[in-house]
Amino acid sequence: MMWQLLFLLLPVAAFTGWYLGRRGEKLVLPNLKNAIPSDYFLGLTYLINEEPDRAVDVLIKLLEVNGDTAETHLALGALFRQRGEVDRAIRIHQNLIARPNLDKSLRIHVMLELGQDYLKAGVLDRAEKLFLELVSIGGEVKRSLQYLQTIYEQEKEWFKAIQTAEKLQLMTRIPMQSIIAHYYCELAAKELLDNRVDEAQAHLKLAVRTDKHCVRGCLALADLAIQEGEYKSALKQLKLVKSNDPDYIAETIEPIRQCYHHLGQEQLLFDYLWECLEEHPRISVILALSDLIRQREGDRPAIDFVAEQIRHHPSLRGLNRLIHLYLGNTVGDTKDKLELLNNLVTQLLTRKPVYRCVQCGFSGNQLYWQCPSCHQWSTVRAIQGIEGD
Ligand SMILES: [Zn+2]
Repeated sequence: MMWQLLFLLLPVAAFTGWYLGRRGEKLVLPNLKNAIPSDYFLGLTYLINEEPDRAVDVLIKLLEVNGDTAETHLALGALFRQRGEVDRAIRIHQNLIARPNLDKSLRIHVMLELGQDYLKAGVLDRAEKLFLELVSIGGEVKRSLQYLQTIYEQEKEWFKAIQTAEKLQLMTRIPMQSIIAHYYCELAAKELLDNRVDEAQAHLKLAVRTDKHCVRGCLALADLAIQEGEYKSALKQLKLVKSNDPDYIAETIEPIRQCYHHLGQEQLLFDYLWECLEEHPRISVILALSDLIRQREGDRPAIDFVAEQIRHHPSLRGLNRLIHLYLGNTVGDTKDKLELLNNLVTQLLTRKPVYRCVQCGFSGNQLYWQCPSCHQWSTVRAIQGIEGD
C-alpha cells in the first residue's frame, strides 16, 4: 500500500515541478492553490475516499506530455502493462502517440509499447498493424518482427509466420530453420484436417528440406507412407529419428514395429531394436525387445532380459514389466504379493507424467511440439531416467 501511495504521488510531484519550472517561481503554497487544476483536488478526493484506480487516472492527466515527462509516461505505461492493467497502459500510450510534436525516436518507442499493450490485451489485429508499420519505417525492426512472429503463431497464420521468421533469420543470423520446419508441419496438419494428403505431403517435404533434423516432419511423412502401404519408405523416415534426435525414439517404435510386421521382416525389427539399445538404452526399446523375446522364446528368457537391463538402467516401467512377466509364472502366496506390488507400481506410474518441457518444466502425458506453457518449439520431451523413458 505504501509504495502505491508513493507511486500515486509521483504525478503530483511531477506536476508541481513542471508548474514551478514553467513559472520560474518558488513554491508559495497560497498562490499555488489558485493555479492548481481542479483535477488535482479531484484526484486527492479519490485518494482520500480510497479509490486509487480513479485517483491514478485523474492524476496522470495532470502530467503534461513533453520531452521531459514522456519517459515518465512510458515508464508508467510499461508498469501498468506488467501489472496486467492493460487498458490503462493503452490509454497512456495512445495519449502519448496522439501528440503531434513527438520526435521520431520517441514515437517509435511509444508504437512498440502500444503494440505490446495490444498483444497482451489480445487485440492482435491492432498489434500486427503497429508492428508492420514499425518494420516499414525501419524502427525497432528486430523486436517488431519477433512480436509479429508471436502474433502469427497465435493466429495460426503459418505462411506469414514463415515469411517473418525468414526475415528475422536473415537479419539476426540466428538459425530459425527448426521453427520454420514446424510451421510447415502445422500447414501440413491443417491440410490433413481437410483430407488434402498431397498438399500435406508437399509441406512436410519442405519441412524436412528446411530442417534436416525435423523429427516431426519425419514422423508425419512416415505416418502418411504407412497409410499408403509404403512401409519401406516409412521405415526410411522413421530410422532418421534415431540419428536426428534420439529423445524421440520412443515415438518411432510402434510404427517401426508395424512396418516390419507388414513386410514380414520380424528379424530385421529385432536387429534394429538391438542397435537402438546399444546406442540409446531407453526403457521403451527394452520393453519392445522384451515383447519380441517373449513371443519368440517365452516368458523366462524375457524375464532374464528385462531383469538384466533394469539392473544397468533402473526404471519403474521396467520393474512394472518384470512384475507382469513374473505374475504369469507364479502361484499362491507369492502371486498375491506380486499382485499387490503390481498395483502399487501401476498406481505410481499413472500419476507420473511422460513428457516434460526442458525450458519451463511443464509436464503431462501428451507430446506437444509447441509447449502450451512457454510456447517454445521442440522443448517438450520424454522424461528420462528411473521414472521416465
Ligand atoms: Zn515450456
